Amino acid sequence: MLDKDFFTIPTEHFTIEGRSRAGHETYFRVRELGAVLDIGRCPDMAIGMPNIFVTHAHLDHALGIPFYAGQRHLQRIAGGRVFVPSEAADDFRALMALHEKLEDTGYDIEIVGVGEGDVVSIGKGHEVRGHRATHRVAARGYEFLEVRHHLRPEFVGRDDISELRRRGEKVAEEYRQPLLFYTGDTDRGILESNEALYRAEVLIIECSFIADGHQDRAARYRHIHFDDIAEFAERFENRLIVLTHFSRRYSRAEIRDEIRRRCPPLLRERIRLALPEPFQRL
Ligand SMILES: [Zn+2]
Ligand SMILES: [Zn+2]
Repeated sequence: MLDKDFFTIPTEHFTIEGRSRAGHETYFRVRELGAVLDIGRCPDMAIGMPNIFVTHAHLDHALGIPFYAGQRHLQRIAGGRVFVPSEAADDFRALMALHEKLEDTGYDIEIVGVGEGDVVSIGKGHEVRGHRATHRVAARGYEFLEVRHHLRPEFVGRDDISELRRRGEKVAEEYRQPLLFYTGDTDRGILESNEALYRAEVLIIECSFIADGHQDRAARYRHIHFDDIAEFAERFENRLIVLTHFSRRYSRAEIRDEIRRRCPPLLRERIRLALPEPFQRL
């Protein structure tokens, strides 16, 4: 069956595929990073991926974890790490133990708790840092960084670099390029308190509510309203800002038209909606 909410969004360094509607299902796959962000009900496309980053336990984001484990076991795919907020890790492990008991089997995946500020390596020179996200249950935002090297400032402009290198001089140093920040479900608090989200090349941010009169609802259920994002328009240095997790009370055309109407010109070109074409751009 064709999934009419499925989208593909190309960015400069990677492609984001997935679907995202509040209370229904949210998952994104970024193949270039070997990562799935939230797992929804576990689409087939997630099963082969080695790293799953789950922002919180709400079922529209996390229900697929046991199925991911079971499918990998069935298909004899070794390993698989599921990263969850550290506060929820023991409960997820207990849940997996129950499924193992019910299925009379043993899974191979590992549940890894990620705390605020924790950094995990996901191979190919990529790291992921956990960030604080405020929601109705324990929640984590994830920042993806690429470890790169550049010349140390004192060597910039010199033409004897290869000679220096031959002599064993340490001419290069490591730095971390923030490629992607994913907020998961959260409220405007993350816009007030987090610096890193504004600097990542690509920001995936929830935007559950968009219409007039729904600002209170956003605050009450710990979600973001588009007005919150517009209020911070000047802060965003991101090349692309992907808005996700729209409430199902809005149609795709309503989402595009309403955000187009409210969007500060400063952001318009950089915003993408996590919807299929022709609803992705403002
Ligand atoms: Zn959600
Ligand atoms: Zn939620």
